[in-house]
Amino acid sequence: MTQIICSPAKYIQGKGELKRLGAYCAAFEVHGAYAIVDPFVLANYGEDVTGSFTASGLPLVQREFAGECSMLQVQQIVDELQGGTAGIILGIGGGKTLDTAKAVSRLSGLPVVIVPTVASSDAPCSALSVLYTEDGKLDRYLPLLHSPDMVVADVDIIAKAPPRLLAAGMGDALSTYFEARACRRSGAVTHAGGNGSIAAYTMARACLDTLLHDGAQALADVRAGEASEAVEHIVEANIYLSGIGFESGGLAAAHAIHNGLTVLPECRQLLHGEKVAFATLVQLELEGAPEFEIEEAASFCRSVDLPVTLEAMGLAAVEPERLMLAAVAACDPDGPMGNMPFAVAPEDVYSAIIAADRRHRGN
Ligand SMILES: [Zn+2]
Repeated sequence: MTQIICSPAKYIQGKGELKRLGAYCAAFEVHGAYAIVDPFVLANYGEDVTGSFTASGLPLVQREFAGECSMLQVQQIVDELQGGTAGIILGIGGGKTLDTAKAVSRLSGLPVVIVPTVASSDAPCSALSVLYTEDGKLDRYLPLLHSPDMVVADVDIIAKAPPRLLAAGMGDALSTYFEARACRRSGAVTHAGGNGSIAAYTMARACLDTLLHDGAQALADVRAGEASEAVEHIVEANIYLSGIGFESGGLAAAHAIHNGLTVLPECRQLLHGEKVAFATLVQLELEGAPEFEIEEAASFCRSVDLPVTLEAMGLAAVEPERLMLAAVAACDPDGPMGNMPFAVAPEDVYSAIIAADRRHRGN
């Protein structure tokens, strides 16, 4: 058995980290840095970033992320970097900005520093970039040669992002332990390319424990505009523990069911982690998980405003045939359903969705 763990070479989390970015990047001993930055972040924090690089004596070019995280955009930036002095790439912002920076790093061979300004998913630490077509459709998954060289999470900035994004990140993180457990039982090969390890499994478990302990408090605190200790714990759970946990612990039914649900346009207003939260409850039904575990996961979802019923998913009126389409898509042989420790047919997924909805509707 080969065990493989992927992780960023360095993970930094704290308050005010954006103002220390220049110092962190200067440690790479390069002649210049090139940052791809979300428009909102550039408008509100661009001067903080510039100031920190000036103080460190490292020349910085900031480019506003515009358009789509597409191969076309990525190639344009790679061309722009040719012959320049930038020796390091930064991505500062949300998922698509970060994925653009990762893809530019992959194609240019330059190291990448990932600076998430929201904690809405576990993607920042992963060695993967998701590319879209110019009109926003999924294009391809671009694997990186290794995880980001550095991930820097500024809790002050993340705490100011819309609370719904932090809750969605908790939904994505909720599935991590249950999926890693399924992979451990089946002996599945994870995204990292090997079997899971004690380390990744322990992180996945710590991720769940942190959510259960601090999730509701963290959401209340970001609603009150406070970067409390609970918020710090949830940022670590959403970005780091879940990031390592999913990539090196493995994905299973919850993400497969999430993928299936994306075929239903009614779900498109939902964030990734919101769909994953409900899909986690469906996985627990599929597994015939103990009652206490199902109740614990569902009451956690309710405490942080994550959906537990079809109605909350925008699917109250969905026809059985269309729900079946999602169940079929969930069992795509190229997806993670095959990581479950038993065979799962579309009919099983369909029944588990109905069972989860019925249970959590309370009748
Ligand atoms: Zn996810």
